[in-house]
Amino acid sequence: MMITAETTNYSRDAYSMLTSIGRGFRRSCPHCGKGQVFEGYLKLFDCCSNCAAPTGEIRSDDLPPYLTIFLVGHIVVPLLLLVEAYYHPAIWIQMAIWPTVTLGLTLLFLPFIKGAALGLMWYLKIRGDEQH
Ligand SMILES: [Zn+2]
Repeated sequence: MMITAETTNYSRDAYSMLTSIGRGFRRSCPHCGKGQVFEGYLKLFDCCSNCAAPTGEIRSDDLPPYLTIFLVGHIVVPLLLLVEAYYHPAIWIQMAIWPTVTLGLTLLFLPFIKGAALGLMWYLKIRGDEQH
């Protein structure tokens, strides 16, 4: 079942998709932009603390990890190749630096990208459990 304006009485007419994504990226409610929707690092409250939008029903599943891996890969791989090309560090140094950088950037970006995915899904009125 899709979240619709009829069933939730939350119209998206007052803001754009980018606004909704941006609000989510800031980890605030994609509908009002003021309320808290994250209970923890990635866990969602059932609804917004300000406008009660049922954002907790949205299951973004693999989208945030997929986008995070895509982004981090496009940052880490060019850096790794540049460092190798210009500085030729020992392999043990490479093996110490790049997995740590990859893990750090992934953990840094994931909650914000999850918020952005939440904002996108909220705007598109999809919950992530649709059967097609
Ligand atoms: Zn709200």
